[in-house]
Amino acid sequence: MCAAATFLRDVFGFDAFRPGQQDIVDAVAEGRDVLAIMPTGGGKSLCYQLPALMREGVTVVISPLIALMRDQVRALRQAGVAAGALTSGNTDEETAEVWEMLDTERLKLLYIAPERLSSGAALGMLRRIGVSLIAVDEAHCVSQWGHDFRPDYLRIGELRRALDVPLAAFTATADAETRAEIVTRLFDTATPQTFLHGFDRPNIHLSFAVKDGPRRQILNFAAARKGQSGIVYCGTRARTESIAAALREAGHAALHYHGGMDAEERRMTETRFSHDDGLIVVATVAFGMGVDKPDIRWVAHADLPKSIESYYQEIGRAGRDGAPAETLTLFGPDDIRLRRAQIDESPAPPDRRAADHARLNALLGLAEALTCRRAKLLEYFGESDVTCGNCDLCDGPAAVFDGTESVRKALSAILRTDEWFGAGHLTDILVGNTTDKIRARGHEALPTFGCGKDLSRRQWGAVFRQMMGRDLIRPDPARHGALRMTDAALPILRGQENITLRRDSIDSADRRPAPKS
Ligand code: ADP
Ligand code: ZN
Repeated sequence: MCAAATFLRDVFGFDAFRPGQQDIVDAVAEGRDVLAIMPTGGGKSLCYQLPALMREGVTVVISPLIALMRDQVRALRQAGVAAGALTSGNTDEETAEVWEMLDTERLKLLYIAPERLSSGAALGMLRRIGVSLIAVDEAHCVSQWGHDFRPDYLRIGELRRALDVPLAAFTATADAETRAEIVTRLFDTATPQTFLHGFDRPNIHLSFAVKDGPRRQILNFAAARKGQSGIVYCGTRARTESIAAALREAGHAALHYHGGMDAEERRMTETRFSHDDGLIVVATVAFGMGVDKPDIRWVAHADLPKSIESYYQEIGRAGRDGAPAETLTLFGPDDIRLRRAQIDESPAPPDRRAADHARLNALLGLAEALTCRRAKLLEYFGESDVTCGNCDLCDGPAAVFDGTESVRKALSAILRTDEWFGAGHLTDILVGNTTDKIRARGHEALPTFGCGKDLSRRQWGAVFRQMMGRDLIRPDPARHGALRMTDAALPILRGQENITLRRDSIDSADRRPAPKS
């Protein structure tokens, strides 16, 4: 694993780069002058924080927002990074501490408010401390024609000349005039490497399906694309081997790939994938980092990815040549349970676990989306006004129904049994199925018993899955995965909010006999 990816995981706790981040991180870490335009929320700060860790010396970060700087410093310190800020919001002790860290050469990131640049003392100090990179956040503040103009930003160009170090400028404002002005004012005659990524990959078709015999679903998907290069991502090593074998049996050229194979074997698989036409690699997420094949025609997920970032990165390996490419992501209640458990059981601090749950929720929201998936995906990365026409829900919108009543019945079954049971037993209660367990617990006496006869067991399965996907209920690892209500469900329970559920996944779940695998 490369250094950047290691820092990304160990320091920042992310499993994948956001769109555009990796290229920017690489360029900044290499010491190029960079101008990066990314939408708000796209993850700009990582693009200078991570290279700061990879480079010798101190990275100076100039940002106009004191509260934001203090926030970032706090988060970096929590992650074990030596960071400090010099702003007018500092207490004397804070400032003394920063100076001391600078004197002892322990600081990696120094945040400075632009006002500081007008004092000669600051420049002298920056000269002394061995600055190796200047990062400028909200770089459009240097534009005299914009409404965010900060006169002090005009001094940044001077600072760069005086220190003679690379500069990386970041902004969400993309119009050409502002960009040109940023370049002349911050970089003089140097031409920065410019990154202006729309995150959209319009040639990639997006689709999700509820697991219903996943092996068969993958085989069907591959059969319709015989002879094309594709990747199947799986959640476990064992599954890569069994699905690869099934594909070979069905007449495809297919190899498995995972971290448990020796380096030689892995390299051979990578080489064959690059050179051969129409090879399928069935892999864990270990596959892909070094793969740079432009004509991968499809990517399928046999199991739900970890986060929306991982999803984007993995499907993004398809169709780099710009020609049409297709994706299919399978998911089911077991995936949701597994991913939640992985987060709950990780040693990460509570804040980070909460953020991981939120990123998983974003992916589940995408999986259970009712309208255009691309719009939803790019909205998450900060882009709005997306036109698509190239996802399964644009092909044929989801049939929906008002699921408020069903969800309230399910919540009632959960609460009346004190949040101690899983979907199977709760469904028995709802459909009025007098099993031994129902009798033993006296659950046939509950008012909820049999109140959900209007739906089949499979349909209840889909309701519970969608409730998990919307984070209305969560399996509790401390209760053997019993489903517990979250606060997000309260407005529905109280009748303050309605909820729309997808009907198609319920129907498709009903069309076929229970899956074997
Ligand atoms: P911007 O400055 O572009 O508006 P931030 O740098 O504040 O965006 O990042 C926005 C959010 O995205 C933050 O909550 C950050 O933790 C998160 N984020 C950034 N990079 C990643 C990543 N690679 N994976 C997951 N989350 C990320
Ligand atoms: Zn769409």
